[in-house]
Amino acid sequence: MPSSLLELKGVRKDFRKGKNIVHALFPTDLEIMEGEILGLVGESGSGKSTLANIIVRLIPSDSGSIVFDGIKISGLGERAFKRYRRDIQMVFQDPYSSINPKKKIGYLLDECLRIHEKGMSREERERKVYESLDEVGLDISYAERYQESLSGGQRQRVAIALALILRPRLIVLDEPVSALDVSIEAQILNLLLDLRNRHNLTYLFISHDLNVVSYLSDRIAVMYKGSVVELAKAEELMSCIMHPYTEALFRASEDLEADKKEENVVSHGCPFASRCSKRKAICLDEKPLLMKVNDSHSVACWRAFDENSCNF
Ligand code: ADP
Ligand code: MG
Repeated sequence: MPSSLLELKGVRKDFRKGKNIVHALFPTDLEIMEGEILGLVGESGSGKSTLANIIVRLIPSDSGSIVFDGIKISGLGERAFKRYRRDIQMVFQDPYSSINPKKKIGYLLDECLRIHEKGMSREERERKVYESLDEVGLDISYAERYQESLSGGQRQRVAIALALILRPRLIVLDEPVSALDVSIEAQILNLLLDLRNRHNLTYLFISHDLNVVSYLSDRIAVMYKGSVVELAKAEELMSCIMHPYTEALFRASEDLEADKKEENVVSHGCPFASRCSKRKAICLDEKPLLMKVNDSHSVACWRAFDENSCNF
């Protein structure tokens, strides 16, 4: 039985925008099992980064609990949390933000070890730095280079090396391939799969692209307007998409961006109802919660238990 590595319960976040409150994340439950890749997909603004940033503690949640490897980390102060920080690493879409341009790559990798592995000798650190470059497909000459001399793909390899060098248990990857060309994207996805297998890592892998997410995920969570609206094993989801929003993401034929600008007139009902061609009367009145359809598939849609509820 795989064990739970990270468990979120009722994690919520609002932002104030002028006079308005943005519900970036409605109370959300999510579990990530040890060794799995959980894909998180949704269009821009659905709350994916908010969730990621809460998990790695870049921002606090408003409420809810987070349990990591059996320990409730959400209530811990900064000092007590410190020992878990190295276990949970993050890779961003834009490696500029995580790679200091003024330092050589080798220095930055070594710095992680100097901070977190105080007993490690200089020689040992140097060996680890070269080893971590090798693991992401870069030769040791990259230790002497600066971020600005690297291509987008190489920068993302360095960002992955920086996340990996402390041997974390969980890596949160927030749109790590979204800024890359398609051919480079495939290389980085394969590198991530390879590293996961080699080191028994656990990923929360975020993308707005369902194709990318389904390529490497074991399970997929679909987010829409701050809620998880569908959650299933990847193969189950790709053979039976239940939520009309997931279907729209999959087809990507609908102009999702144009749709988004449409005024959402529904206040109590399903947040997707105004865009949904399959809505029923209840959809306008009541927001559906995430409901379990079978052991490996949950969906927040009032059509979930209808006949022919698979949309694809
Ligand atoms: P995603 O990563 O899926 O694109 P985000 O988590 O970045 O979504 O954003 C979710 C919602 O929260 C959006 O409406 C966004 O505008 C809002 N939001 C995110 N961060 C902030 C912030 N720091 N201040 C105000 N609103 C924010
Ligand atoms: Mg984001």
